[in-house]
Amino acid sequence: MPVRHDQLTQIDARTYAFMHLPGGWGQTNTGLVVGDDASMVIDTVWDRVRAQANMEAWSSVSDAPITEAVNTHSDGDHWWGNNTLPRAARITTSAAALTAMKEDTPPGVVGALAKLGRLTRPIPGPAGHLGGYMHQVTGGADLPKRLPRLPDHTFSDTEDIEVGGRGAQLRNFGPAHTPGDLIVHIRDAGVVFTGDLLFIGATPVIWHGPLENWMAAIDHLLQLDAATYVPGHGPICGRAEIELLRDYWVWLAQAAGDQHSAGVAPLPAARALVRSPEFAPFAQWGSPERIVLNLSTLYRLFEGAPPAPPTIVRRAKAFADAGKLQRDMTS
Ligand SMILES: [Zn+2]
Repeated sequence: MPVRHDQLTQIDARTYAFMHLPGGWGQTNTGLVVGDDASMVIDTVWDRVRAQANMEAWSSVSDAPITEAVNTHSDGDHWWGNNTLPRAARITTSAAALTAMKEDTPPGVVGALAKLGRLTRPIPGPAGHLGGYMHQVTGGADLPKRLPRLPDHTFSDTEDIEVGGRGAQLRNFGPAHTPGDLIVHIRDAGVVFTGDLLFIGATPVIWHGPLENWMAAIDHLLQLDAATYVPGHGPICGRAEIELLRDYWVWLAQAAGDQHSAGVAPLPAARALVRSPEFAPFAQWGSPERIVLNLSTLYRLFEGAPPAPPTIVRRAKAFADAGKLQRDMTS
């Protein structure tokens, strides 16, 4: 069993995770792989204070300089802390994720929208729902003002990195959750850092699709049969939790298809689905209202739209719906 030091978790003699539980919006897990004379960091978080705490945690357990870093995907909560990495460290991600990092809404704008959300929260109707939800998503994080350092090395499908005599196998399964979603398999430790291809104890979010790619990633994770999986959000897990995530997607794809065929819009469809008995296995997960974000993506794929990152309008509509659904579910 992994030894837990507060949020710093030792997985084996030279492999660590820095957990941010329970794994809601912006509560991102990161990793450290220590080799003989060099080490590798997996993901950096968006809150500046927490990103610094991550680096301090790494230096408290290892003297080996960080020469390699990996960003699993383009969501800001996995890479906006890159400026805390040593300048000499090479940063790797998938080519698709790098493009998305350049095109996504930058941290300064997200920070401004979150501030605006705090102000518009009390307004009745969609503006208030959107504002309240935006505010929750950023969770009061101290975001960087400017776009941080981008990765300097990319690959398309697979990449092997050697760090201080240890091997890391990277594999990109995107587009799925986002345009590029990679996993990092540390074979000698039997651990896989999965980025947001795993949300554990928290409702997953599909922004891009197709869902088939995410299902292929889940099947691959199960085939690896690793001793330990470190999800992007939520606690360290094994096979059973991954199988439950697969169950969620299988159920939701079918149920969303039925609602869509019946002409039910995402918000009323989500209301019906969270009340259905089939939802019970997932009802305890955090952020259940994210189901409506998933419906917004699945619906457009059902309608034949090509998988694509969300436009700011689609994201705003989905967040407003999520804010509304959350109020309905808690009132
Ligand atoms: Zn994330």
